[in-house]
Amino acid sequence: MASPSVRTCCTEKLFKVVVIGDVAVGKSSVICRYVHNRFKETYKTSIGVDFALKTIEWDRNTVVRLQLWDIAGQERCKNLSRVYYKEAMGALVVFDIAKRSTFESALEWKQGLDGKVVLDSGSPIPAVLLANKCDTKEGDRVLPTTLDQFCKENNFIGWFETSAKDNINIDEAGAFLVENILQCDKDLSNEETHGDSFKSEMLQIVPVMLV
Ligand code: GDP
Ligand code: MG
Repeated sequence: MASPSVRTCCTEKLFKVVVIGDVAVGKSSVICRYVHNRFKETYKTSIGVDFALKTIEWDRNTVVRLQLWDIAGQERCKNLSRVYYKEAMGALVVFDIAKRSTFESALEWKQGLDGKVVLDSGSPIPAVLLANKCDTKEGDRVLPTTLDQFCKENNFIGWFETSAKDNINIDEAGAFLVENILQCDKDLSNEETHGDSFKSEMLQIVPVMLV
């Protein structure tokens, strides 16, 4: 006789991840590939913020939910409101590998991020640099050696060449970010003596005005 299945207790973690970078580098496409495994040539851009939820069965005991914040129509303002970054635990900074100006902007996006949010420990939140559109052959490509150096100097935890179009390295970059977020979360929980409520506060999506 089959024995009844025993449900093991499972921890759920919800983390906010902001996705930033210049207009048209592929932020919405990366999110769409990551969450829905789809690619569309064009996206309707709304004004404000779009949200997407990615659920990952991380291991037998842990489900990770990423709340991905996609800026829409505000890319000209690299200095986004603090509200946008509030409680973020990770970031994807995206640029177009064939468009050097967007790589230069990545630094400004990173500085804006680090100026607006830090971990409770005071360290920058984990940020991964995505050199997107690696399927394209055109343009003045940014080289891997440049990216290694750039990440070291600017506190990115790493970089990936990605293609939302051809589904290259999107899941890998996401998993690498999650791994680092979980480590930070563990370190912070160890430091916290008072199981406070910041995680549950984070779950509330409040209407925001981003200036
Ligand atoms: P966003 O403004 O940063 O959100 O950029 P979008 O996701 O709207 O993408 C801008 C344009 O780049 C669209 O035409 C996409 O189809 C295209 N695009 C996005 N990702 C890729 C990619 O990985 N490869 C190629 N070739 N095109 C891409
Ligand atoms: Mg977009």
